[in-house]
Amino acid sequence: MFEKILIANRGEIACRVIKTARRMGIKTVAVYSEADANARHVRLADEAVLIGPAAARESYLVVERIIAAAKATGAQAIHPGYGFLSENEDFCEACEREGLVFIGPPVSAIRAMGSKSEAKKLMEGAGVPLTPGYHGDDQDPDFLHRQADAIGYPVLIKAAAGGGGKGMRLVEKGEDFIAALASCKREAASSFGDDHVLVEKYILRPRHIEIQVFGDTHGNVVYLFERDCSVQRRHQKVLEEAPAPRMTPERRAAMGKAAVEAAKAVGYVGAGTVEFIANQDGSFYFMEMNTRLQVEHPVTEMITGLDLVEWQLRVASGEPLPLAQEQLQIRGHALEARIYAEDPAKGFLPSTGKLVHLAPPAESLHVRVDTGVEECDEISPHYDPMIAKLIVWDVNRDRALARMLQALADYRVVGVANNIDFLSRLTACPAFANADLDTGLIEREKDYLFPQEAAVPAEVFFIAALAELLRESEFAGKHARRDSHPASPWHERDGWRLNATAQRVLLFRWQEQEAAVTVSYLPDAYRLSFNGRSVTARGELNPRGLLRVDLDGKRLDATVIAAAGRRHVFVQGHAWVLAAVDPLHHTGEGGGAEGGLVAPMPGKVIALAAAEGATVEKGAPLLILEAMKMEHTITAPAAGTIKAFRFSVGDQVGDGAELVEFEPAAA
Ligand code: ADP
Repeated sequence: MFEKILIANRGEIACRVIKTARRMGIKTVAVYSEADANARHVRLADEAVLIGPAAARESYLVVERIIAAAKATGAQAIHPGYGFLSENEDFCEACEREGLVFIGPPVSAIRAMGSKSEAKKLMEGAGVPLTPGYHGDDQDPDFLHRQADAIGYPVLIKAAAGGGGKGMRLVEKGEDFIAALASCKREAASSFGDDHVLVEKYILRPRHIEIQVFGDTHGNVVYLFERDCSVQRRHQKVLEEAPAPRMTPERRAAMGKAAVEAAKAVGYVGAGTVEFIANQDGSFYFMEMNTRLQVEHPVTEMITGLDLVEWQLRVASGEPLPLAQEQLQIRGHALEARIYAEDPAKGFLPSTGKLVHLAPPAESLHVRVDTGVEECDEISPHYDPMIAKLIVWDVNRDRALARMLQALADYRVVGVANNIDFLSRLTACPAFANADLDTGLIEREKDYLFPQEAAVPAEVFFIAALAELLRESEFAGKHARRDSHPASPWHERDGWRLNATAQRVLLFRWQEQEAAVTVSYLPDAYRLSFNGRSVTARGELNPRGLLRVDLDGKRLDATVIAAAGRRHVFVQGHAWVLAAVDPLHHTGEGGGAEGGLVAPMPGKVIALAAAEGATVEKGAPLLILEAMKMEHTITAPAAGTIKAFRFSVGDQVGDGAELVEFEPAAA
C-alpha cells in the first residue's frame, strides 16, 4: 500500500479521499489555489502545496504543477477526484511517465470512453444495448438530417466530447434540425474544442440508471449495483438513490452484466460508472461510461457497507478486488441530495458569499454529510458552488425519505442562497415519494416545487421579534455587568422609558409584506401583537441562534440568525428570510435589494441576467450585484422591456446608482 498520496482536487471530494486515506494510515498531500489557502481540504491534509492562482485553468488544471507537487512531497500516487483532471488522458500519461500511480483506469480506457461516439462503437462490438441513433464519422449536415428523419423525432443531438449536461440539443421536428445542429456544434467547439456530434432517438420519460463497476489489475470486474439519478434539472443530477425503485433482480443482473461487459471491453481498472437510459418499461440502453469516482458514489457505499475510495487505493496499489460478485449485497436504501449555493426561485442562479452560519444535521449511522466547507468559509465564484452532499440511509425507501426530510429540516445555511427548501419540497413531492421517476420530474412538478409563496405566518414574525428582544436583553445584561453603574435604569431592557408607556414596535419585511409587531413588556415575558393577534412569548436564545420558544404555552424550537440586516428564521422545516427594518431609515437595508432598479448599496456588477432589448415578466432577474459579500438580484418591477444596462459586468457601482433603464409594459 502507498505511504503517501497527493489529491489533485479540492472541496468535498478532496476531504472525502483524505478521510479514507487517514483511516488507512496513508499520508496525504493537498494542492490548492490562492483562493483556497484556508480551505477545509488544506486544513485536513498532512501537507499542502500551493499550485497557482484562483482560476482552475491556472491551478487545478495545470498538469505540470500537480506532478511537480507530487514529486516535491514524495507522494507515490495521485487521486484525481472527479472533474478537473480526472478524465484527462494527458494527465494520466504524465503520471505514468513520471513514475506516479494514477488512481484510476489506464489511459487507454479513458481514451476509449472519452468520446460518446467512439464509446458507442465499442459497446456495439461488446453486445451492449445502445440508444438507436447515428454515431458514425460523417458530419455532413444534410446526411445527419436524413439520419434524424430515419430515427424519427424527437431526436437529441449530442456533442461527442460533451459532458456535464452541456452540448445537447433536443429537436422536436425535421425543420428545426439544421439550426439546432449548427448551434450544438458551436457550443461543442467552444466548450470542448471538438464539434463532432452524434444523433440519438430522444427517449420519452426516461430514467437515468447507472451501474457502479470496479475492476482490478488481475482481470476481475464486478458491479456494485445501480443508482437511480433520474431527478435532474437541465440534465444535471439533483437527487440520487440506490437501489433504483422497482428494479427487479433479473433486470439488475442484466444491467450489471452489460456494465461488466462494457468495462471488460476497454480493459477497465478501478472505479467506473456505466450510465444507461431506461424506458419506463425497463428496457435500457448504454449512454456513456464515466471513468472515475462519481459525485453520487456515497449512496452505493451506504447500501453495500463498503468504502469505494479504499477499494480504489487497494486496486491502484495492485491488490485484487476485496470481494467477488457473489459476496456483494444490498442492504436498505440510500438517498443523496446535493446542497448547492444557488437560488431555485431565480432559475438556480449560483450564489457566492461567506457562510456566516452553517449548521449541518448531526452525522450518525443514518446521516452522512460530505462537505468541503465549514462556517465562515466562502463559496467563491471560482468553483462549483456545492456546499455539501447530504446522504441518508435506512432499511427501506420510505424510511430513508423520512430521514432525508428531517435532515434537510435540520440543515441551516446563512450567507448564500441555497436549495435546501427546494430539496425538501422535492423529497416530499408525491411523484418522488411514489417513485414515479423520470428525468422530466422537476419540470412536470414545477407548480408543487415552486409554489407562489404565501404570506409569512404570524408565528414567524413573533419568533423573529422574540429573538430580537432576547438578544437585546442579553446584550444589555452584558453591558451592565461591565458598567460602573450596574443598577442604572438605562440598562434595563423592559421597555422602560422616561415619560413613555412600555410599548414599542419592531418592523420586519418579507417581499412586499411589512409586519409591525407591537411589544409590551410583562414581568417575565413579552406580549406580542401583530395583525390583530396577540400572544405571550418567552424563550431562551443560545449564542448559536437556537431559540426555545413558548408562544401562549405552545413550545417550538427554532433558529434565528441575524446577518446583514436580515433575520433568517428556521422553524418547522422551513427557512424564512426577513428584512429587519429600522424605522428611522425607512428605505431599510436587506429587503430593499429586490425589485428596485437602483443599487441598494455600493457593489460590483457580477452578471447581467437578461439581454438588452428583452421583454421580461415581473420579477425576472435583470442584473446581479455583489455587495457586502452577498449577491443581490435586481429584478424587473413589472412586466416590461430592458431599454439599456447602465453598467457592464465588473463595474463598481455607487449606492443608489441607476442600474437599468427599464420601460414597464403598457397596462
Ligand atoms: P453528459 O455527459 O453531458 O452527462 P449524458 O449523455 O450522460 O450527457 O446525458 C445526460 C442526461 O441527458 C441523461 O441523464 C438524460 O437525462 C438525458 N439524455 C441523454 N440521452 C438521452 C436520450 N437519448 N433521450 C432522452 N434523454 C437523454
